[in-house]
Amino acid sequence: MRIHTLLLSLVMAAISFTSNAQFCGYDSDAAETARLLRNKKAYKTSGPQRSVVDIYIPITFHIVSETNGTGGIDEDRVIAQLCALNQDYNPHGIYFYLKDKTFNYVKSTILFSSPTAQSAGTKMITEKINNGKNSVNIFICENADTGGTSGGTTLGYYDPFLDAIVIRKQDVNAFTGTLSHELGHFFSLDHTFNGWDFESYDPAVHGNPVSSMFSPGGVQNELADGSNCENAGDFLCDTPADYNLGLGWAGCAPYTGGAKDFNGEELDPDEENFMGYFIGCDEYHFSDLQIEMVIADYQSNDRDFLNSLSYVPNLNLNLDNTTLVAPANAATVETYNYVKLEWTEVSGADGYIIEVTQGITNSIYLSPNPYLHITDLEADKTYRWKVLPYSEVGGCASFTTERIVKTGNILASSELSQIGISLYPTVIEGGSEVIIESSGSYDGNVSIFDVQGKLLNNFRLNLQSGLNRIDDIPSQAGLYFVSVVTLGQQQTFKLVVQ
Ligand SMILES: [Zn+2]
Repeated sequence: MRIHTLLLSLVMAAISFTSNAQFCGYDSDAAETARLLRNKKAYKTSGPQRSVVDIYIPITFHIVSETNGTGGIDEDRVIAQLCALNQDYNPHGIYFYLKDKTFNYVKSTILFSSPTAQSAGTKMITEKINNGKNSVNIFICENADTGGTSGGTTLGYYDPFLDAIVIRKQDVNAFTGTLSHELGHFFSLDHTFNGWDFESYDPAVHGNPVSSMFSPGGVQNELADGSNCENAGDFLCDTPADYNLGLGWAGCAPYTGGAKDFNGEELDPDEENFMGYFIGCDEYHFSDLQIEMVIADYQSNDRDFLNSLSYVPNLNLNLDNTTLVAPANAATVETYNYVKLEWTEVSGADGYIIEVTQGITNSIYLSPNPYLHITDLEADKTYRWKVLPYSEVGGCASFTTERIVKTGNILASSELSQIGISLYPTVIEGGSEVIIESSGSYDGNVSIFDVQGKLLNNFRLNLQSGLNRIDDIPSQAGLYFVSVVTLGQQQTFKLVVQ
């Protein structure tokens, strides 16, 4: 059961939808319409593709925060959203996966709070190039205001110029259809009420029957009998005529508002379509032709970059939950700057999200392993912790119940808190070397894993204070993880070989 919250304030919306409504900020232009019509043509040539091909689409979730690092969405909510997104799309053979099994973090107050500002756009372009290549780029911000909604709230939008989606963090969760809707736009879909995007039907203004064959946005109004469906509304013939009738309508109840088309025939919109504005339906769907357009768009030359990785992800959408192992619930550990948390390994998991809460402050940690060494807890405090396994398509698992752990006041090692290790560069050419810079001289162990978590190389390293060169780096292009253990403390670095 999913709750679609494109519009939330039902009663308020009914009274005065222009000041309280919640919108998607997308409005298709001529270029976007041309893209959709091209996709229609491709579909007519190739025939139906849904359930014929499976499509794997890499996503980069940019977790945007204030410049000081606060305010960004918790990763577990992004994972829950990814699971829901896949449940919406995978009945049609379409899967979305986390590119490189990870997230990108952007610290920028301007982007966080004002994504339509010019400098925010520049920031998004930079992040796309540096960290979002060959994927769908989704920026999760505090708000997604586009300024064009007469005081309403914009929940998200697809920006064709940036070719990126911006979405409010409040609408990233397992319960809204907002992201599924915006990805529809990314893959060329219009609203079912195309042309009425920013002005919904009002009999006092537009007449009943509607007095013009054209919508306020200039698109031909679709007729209730569908006779002009190829060239009107959303240009798709299996989505019935809609003049933005969901905006202000009471939830998902069948529309009986009596709006009539130019011929005087009553409209019967599809309340449960993802690309409409009816809210509160138990289930939403895409029409067959909408899915065909998504696939045709994916298969077009414009979208070649999404397939450039030729990668088949781990499609596990039914991960088991994990069980916490150690420390025992309510146990006190002697040390505070070195606490090892352990849980059972989950088959098919690509990683684990660990949430550690003290009072009302929670911190999120990620680990590719079924354990985590935490080195930043405080002495003599009570913490709650829980773990969520995830796969690169989300995994749809649940958090464990929480356990309590109390820290002692013993420093694990006088040196431990002073260890400072960094690795650079993090993007190299095959066959070159990387440098580990160390703040002191330690015996260390270095392990190199591939993106599947397979151990490729493991060796001892006597780290010297200063620069330590490593040349045992894989030559094959790909993403690797370099794990360095010193004094029982593990640090893992991401390394891209080009
Ligand atoms: Zn929209």
